[in-house]
Amino acid sequence: MELFNNKIIDRFVARTGKSRGLWEAAREVMPDGGGSDMQCYYPYPVFMERAQDSKLYDVDGNEYVDFFCGAGTVLLGHRSPIVLKAVEDALLKGIPASVAYNNEVEYASLLRKHMPGMELVRFLPSGSEANQAGIRIARKFTGRSKVAKFEGGYHGQAQEMLVSIEPVGEACGIAAAPQSVPWHTAMPVEMLDTLVILPFNNTAASVEIIEKNADDLAVVMVEPALVHGGTIPADKEYLKAIRAVTKKHGILVLFDEVITGLRLGLGGAQEVYGVTADMTVLAKPVGGGYPLGVLGGRRDVMEVICMQRMHDKVCVAGSTSGHSVSIAAGLAVVRELEKGEYYRHVQELTLMAVNGLKRVFADAGVPCRITGDVFGIWRGFWTHFTDRAPQNARDTYGTDLLKLLNFYIGMIGRGIFMSPTGAPSISLAHTKEDIDKMLEAASLVLKDLQSR
Ligand code: PMP
Repeated sequence: MELFNNKIIDRFVARTGKSRGLWEAAREVMPDGGGSDMQCYYPYPVFMERAQDSKLYDVDGNEYVDFFCGAGTVLLGHRSPIVLKAVEDALLKGIPASVAYNNEVEYASLLRKHMPGMELVRFLPSGSEANQAGIRIARKFTGRSKVAKFEGGYHGQAQEMLVSIEPVGEACGIAAAPQSVPWHTAMPVEMLDTLVILPFNNTAASVEIIEKNADDLAVVMVEPALVHGGTIPADKEYLKAIRAVTKKHGILVLFDEVITGLRLGLGGAQEVYGVTADMTVLAKPVGGGYPLGVLGGRRDVMEVICMQRMHDKVCVAGSTSGHSVSIAAGLAVVRELEKGEYYRHVQELTLMAVNGLKRVFADAGVPCRITGDVFGIWRGFWTHFTDRAPQNARDTYGTDLLKLLNFYIGMIGRGIFMSPTGAPSISLAHTKEDIDKMLEAASLVLKDLQSR
């Protein structure tokens, strides 16, 4: 593929012969040779064999400093003894899926203590399913049908949320009045008509669109920092305005804190922004690296799930929802986060990485803007190959994304795992030496990118 830099691809391929062989075999039995879209990238994925602390080890014997951290599911580092012990205990107890047990209550209470607005908590297998359940509940509670989301926001793989994620092409409409456009899915037009798309960080236009649709809107889905759209945090006033206009019209607000929950702080983005949602979704690190989604919210809203409503209840099920292994791992992680060291350490190292990258790009004469700053809090970052700081996903998709992909593949070829399928982050197990290695590799990769 000519879109990729030969030097970068050659180096990647030379180090990963066994991965290539495995991928060729994998393609016989799995689409793209991967278990999920998250695992698949060009030219082929590196197959990992094991992980420890901040490192991944592949089948060819290469070591990588891991800046993907299991797509942001791992906060304490790989094989954290705290998590291993909790998981081992849960495995030995052997509680099967779909029965009630103690730890679940303890975890729900702990999350309720920390997360604003989580009066009642329900566990699900994933973030996608938690968002889907939130939409079902909102429709039942309000008796309305429409759902609003921000352009560029990603809320998982539920059919109706796969819209207006990568705003490219004329069908997306003008920036201040974005249209709902399916993304990597086929969607009945009737479903598209139930979706309202809001221009991220454009307060006046968003408020106007919400007011226009107020009688039909059940819920506004809020991703406080668009991660798929380039790790761009919402302006504080923007989220406050969204909260105010929805309250005025009896529209529910769901904060999708799959990325920001636990990571920004124990109270997630809602604490940082000073805005309380009617419902909140958590996933990724909330399962301590194991599959778990959480939907929490106002008591009166969440009670539409309760069985005393008989045939009028909303179904929120899932055979493996609240699995005892995931709950045990998540509990162990949150107990560790309560000590505060994760937040101090990750802030320091992320700032070191971000400032270092800015320096490396400037030295190489390559324009770049790094986003991820939530009012001074840094827990993840995105490197944009551009000289203008992006404000929304349209800006991100106007930058040189191909250069970013080449950069990530180049980094993998130099022992730094930054997956082309997700935003980089740093765990409690990372060290300053890991950051130095990343910066050294970045400097070499930028040189490779400049030579063809
Ligand atoms: N919401 C957001 C903001 C996400 O980043 C993701 C996953 N990348 C999801 C929802 C979906 O969560 P899951 O992959 O657990 O279904």
